[in-house]
Amino acid sequence: MILRDKAADLLTSLSPGTSRIALAGSIRRGMKNPKDIEIVAIPLYEHTLHFREVGLQGEMFGDRLPVPESVSLLDAELDKLYASTSWKLRADRGAGLRARFLIDRDGDKLDLFITDARLWGIIYTFRTGPAQFSHGLASLALKRGWHIESGLLHRHARPVRNNRRVSCLLGEECHLIADTHEEHQVFQALGLPWLEPEERTDTCLNQYLWGA
Ligand SMILES: [Zn+2]
Repeated sequence: MILRDKAADLLTSLSPGTSRIALAGSIRRGMKNPKDIEIVAIPLYEHTLHFREVGLQGEMFGDRLPVPESVSLLDAELDKLYASTSWKLRADRGAGLRARFLIDRDGDKLDLFITDARLWGIIYTFRTGPAQFSHGLASLALKRGWHIESGLLHRHARPVRNNRRVSCLLGEECHLIADTHEEHQVFQALGLPWLEPEERTDTCLNQYLWGA
């Protein structure tokens, strides 16, 4: 099976566990011979009450205390995928909160990036790449006196502490964060014309970075 078809199957399998899912990387850019599959997804969560034993007397629940728990339905779909196909987690890559790295019996790889609605624009753009293009976007933000941090564009320079640039002290609460829920807003915020994924190349940002 060609990689593009595998990618389409993965989207179909995983989408019930997500509120949004899309192909990124070289397949989205329409490359002739894509090397691996990159997918960006926003999981759906099921909020349940989990009863935890506590060694104390509780008036309403006896010894069991209800603890709200959110369960990722994307993880549930991944478990089904592992059980019914040859896709499995790669042994050489840890499974973080923000990504899963899978491999199948043919050695094809899936990088699954997990995000949320607020971070979507930047994560989706950066994961569509190519890598030099993504680096270029980050450089362009710096050139404007801003910075991109954890999937958000802060319209101010990184603060300096002990001669070192550090993260924004306000983090996600910073009021200088641009609205980049959607990919087109990332381009807009950085003062770029919209570029279709297949137009994004290693060099196409050079004129903005260095002047034409
Ligand atoms: Zn900030």
